[in-house]
Amino acid sequence: MIDPSIPPGVAPDHRTIPFARPLLGDEERRAVAAVLDGHMLTHGPRVAAFEKAFADRLGSAHAVALSSCTAGLHLALVAKGIGPGDEVIVPAMTHVATAHAVEHCGAQVVFADVEAATGCLDPDAAAEAVTPRTRAIMPVHYLGLPCDMGRLAAIAERAGAALVEDAATGLGARWGDVPAGTIGDCGVFSFYPTKHMTTLEGGMLVTDDGALDAAVRKRRAFGYDKGLGERSLPGLYDVDTLGWNYRMNEVQAAIGLCQLDRLDGFLAARAANAARLSERLADLDGAQVFPLVAGVRTSGHFCVNLTLDRDSGVSREDLMRHLQARGVGFSVHYPIALPESRYYAGRHAAAADAFPVARWIARRTLSLPCGPHLTADDVEAVADAVCDFFGKE
Ligand SMILES: *Cc1c(COP(=O)(O)O)cnc(C)c1O
Repeated sequence: MIDPSIPPGVAPDHRTIPFARPLLGDEERRAVAAVLDGHMLTHGPRVAAFEKAFADRLGSAHAVALSSCTAGLHLALVAKGIGPGDEVIVPAMTHVATAHAVEHCGAQVVFADVEAATGCLDPDAAAEAVTPRTRAIMPVHYLGLPCDMGRLAAIAERAGAALVEDAATGLGARWGDVPAGTIGDCGVFSFYPTKHMTTLEGGMLVTDDGALDAAVRKRRAFGYDKGLGERSLPGLYDVDTLGWNYRMNEVQAAIGLCQLDRLDGFLAARAANAARLSERLADLDGAQVFPLVAGVRTSGHFCVNLTLDRDSGVSREDLMRHLQARGVGFSVHYPIALPESRYYAGRHAAAADAFPVARWIARRTLSLPCGPHLTADDVEAVADAVCDFFGKE
């Protein structure tokens, strides 16, 4: 069986605490069986119920279930009319999906550096990247900590640009009292197996904008002019726009409803694990942990990010090998600053000294597990392994 949480090159039997592990149980099994026993596999009541439950939980007017977060980021930009000649500002440190969504529209990715203290899109860098062609800004809530949404919203408004939140790792995160993902024009969540909750693959776009909701809904299903329930006779429709097949199916939604019921427990476990790990890893000689709270920004605890000091002689590869030998899973978010990736370097020449923070994070951080799959002993074992490496008592 392939475990998505296994870092590349790590044999499954070499470690006992995975970086991430989806928690699926009897509830999910029963819910899937009920879908398979029926005849409605797509376009059914479970997708609608999952959308309603998710929107209610986030306090959003609308939620659209999709085949992935990447699909949602793409459709958000399409729905905003973004295309060739337009520019979209994307952090230089993020999952490649954020930038690819822009490329799929034929628009130009404009990278901006991230904050050294948090890894989130730096508002100063974003403001500097604005041009008359800027049509959207895409804040990424890096590993669960929300971006500085107050400043980014002001920059977007001044630029006349849309604010599309990549909230793939932002579930449970809050900016003041407001959930991450509900601050911009829309926010998109991921239900990939390593994220806060899973539908195997899947995503959800939330928005208060009825026109945006309708535009995304239409484009996730080919651009039909009438939804399945709106046709006077089955099979009759016209097509009035370009669309994709980006739907979520009933099995995914059935699992998502069960996971949503368990989300409060998942988030509480993450918060407790992250707090304990951060406490144990405070004052390491040569490394630090990214904050779980920054002003009004509160993390949803996707992982605990250990960052090696720029001037410390510690080798990240040595640390990785040490953790691997101790059976502690880890990951790297993300192993390349996107402007340096082969695809984007080939499309946008960037100065060698551009995006210094993103480059530093790509080379010097390591993501430690804090998911609900960890027992209290696991958390101590992760902390012990890291402390031993740094010679901390
Ligand atoms: C996981 C992730 C994505 C992609 O999500 P999918 O659902 O796999 O498409 C996009 N952005 C960020 C920041 C992610 O972590």
